[in-house]
Amino acid sequence: MRSVWVIVVAAGSGSRFGRPKQYEELGGRRVLDWSLAAARAIADGPGNGVVVVVPPDRAGDPAPDVDVVVGGGATRSSSVRAGLSAVPGDAEVIVVHDGARPLAGVELFARVVEAVRGGADAAVPAVEVTDTLRRRSGGPVDRGGLVAVQTPQGFRAAALRGAHAREPEATDDASLVEAVGGKVVVVDGSPANLKITRPVDLAIAEALLRFGATP
Ligand code: C5P
Repeated sequence: MRSVWVIVVAAGSGSRFGRPKQYEELGGRRVLDWSLAAARAIADGPGNGVVVVVPPDRAGDPAPDVDVVVGGGATRSSSVRAGLSAVPGDAEVIVVHDGARPLAGVELFARVVEAVRGGADAAVPAVEVTDTLRRRSGGPVDRGGLVAVQTPQGFRAAALRGAHAREPEATDDASLVEAVGGKVVVVDGSPANLKITRPVDLAIAEALLRFGATP
């Protein structure tokens, strides 16, 4: 059994939401607490752990059932690096998850961990793109072959650390691993695993929970 650590990044300011969305209430607990519960379920027991990355001014908040709390950086990638610095050197699989995706569910975490154990440097959940796409500047984009990528993303620890070594920036971590030659495997994501971005997403998440799409 290889050790699993999860980094939950939740240090964003919620600029598109209007306030830090990770602390909004959803189905009786905070958005972030759903993400932390799934992280804990996949990284429980000896040798495993959960790091949560929060806005620096919230780093002193109580965080029950989390192993390490760290303050984040100005960008998502720098927040991931802040989390990475708190993961023990002997961790073998590292999962990075957006705190803003409360409905990921433990099965999705298990799927990416399994793919890494199967030999991938990185494993990402993805769903079909259903909207028609076009460039703002004009011209359609063929959506065939395109997928929308989610978190949790699983990594061979050394691959993730190597990808972040030069402090690059991207909107996810698999892109960074791929940029340095790593092998990325795509697994089935979940359409219910939405990222809370705008206030309407919170209403949709509430509805999904009521509908029974519980993680
Ligand atoms: O902004 P966006 O929704 O794409 O952010 C994805 C995740 O990254 C969120 O959970 C957010 O809190 C986190 N983040 C972070 N540090 C930042 C920016 C975003 O931890 N500086």
